[in-house]
Amino acid sequence: EKYVSLRNLTLSYGKTVAVPNLNLDVVEGELIALLGPSGCGKTTTMRAIAGLLTPTSGTIVIDGRDVTRVAANKRGIGLVFQSYALFPHLSAFENVAFGLRLQKMPETEIRQRTEAGIATVGLAGFEKRKPAEMSGGQQQRLALARSLVMEPKVLLLDEPLSNLDARLRLEMRTELQRVQKKTGVTMVFVTHDQSEALALADRIVLMKDGKIEQLGTPHQLYAEP
Ligand code: ADP
Ligand code: ADP
Repeated sequence: EKYVSLRNLTLSYGKTVAVPNLNLDVVEGELIALLGPSGCGKTTTMRAIAGLLTPTSGTIVIDGRDVTRVAANKRGIGLVFQSYALFPHLSAFENVAFGLRLQKMPETEIRQRTEAGIATVGLAGFEKRKPAEMSGGQQQRLALARSLVMEPKVLLLDEPLSNLDARLRLEMRTELQRVQKKTGVTMVFVTHDQSEALALADRIVLMKDGKIEQLGTPHQLYAEP
């Protein structure tokens, strides 16, 4: 059950090829990490999956549909970036409800889904707070809830833990795994932190110079010989 398929994908900025001829299959419901040093092409790959960067060549298939030429907002993808981009003037509740309101969903359903999303990330009781009145970890969980309520087929997370201190980072790792098991959403996760990939991912894509150097479970990649 391939869910996200990248086929012969070449990604460029002008004449500079950042990612040449990438092939990758993501399985439904897995948490896969793109791991590698700065500049290896992780973000570029994510931007292509998200529809924020048009491939020079190759195809992107999500849930059986060729989305290579489909607009970003029509791909059923959720994005969580390292800067949470929450709306500072809106309450936690309204931040999470925002995308649902844009869809002109009935108010009762907006309430139900928003409350469920907030509960999923452990923020019940914080609905009225503004982002500035919440900790970094809580803001990160709020950003996660905001994506989850849209019920994406795939959730893309770009260094989602990098702005958190060590303790919160551990907390959020557990939280991400819990949310993934609970919702079954396929997650693609970018990190330059090997320990993070090891702790979180079902499989790790180790990238170097725009290419996949190794691909496998944490055990396959890092087991002692
Ligand atoms: P990351 O955290 O993914 O490494 P960077 O700090 O490298 O991100 O890049 C931040 C922004 O700068 C991104 O929007 C990226 O597209 C852009 N960028 C990165 N490298 C270059 C470059 N060589 N020339 C122009 N823009 C770049
Ligand atoms: P990573 O996310 O792994 O840090 P990126 O995908 O941001 O790597 O970058 C891959 C390559 O593409 C790097 O060589 C980077 O300099 C280049 N790059 C990224 N964004 C841009 C951009 N907006 N313009 C030009 N080059 C870029």
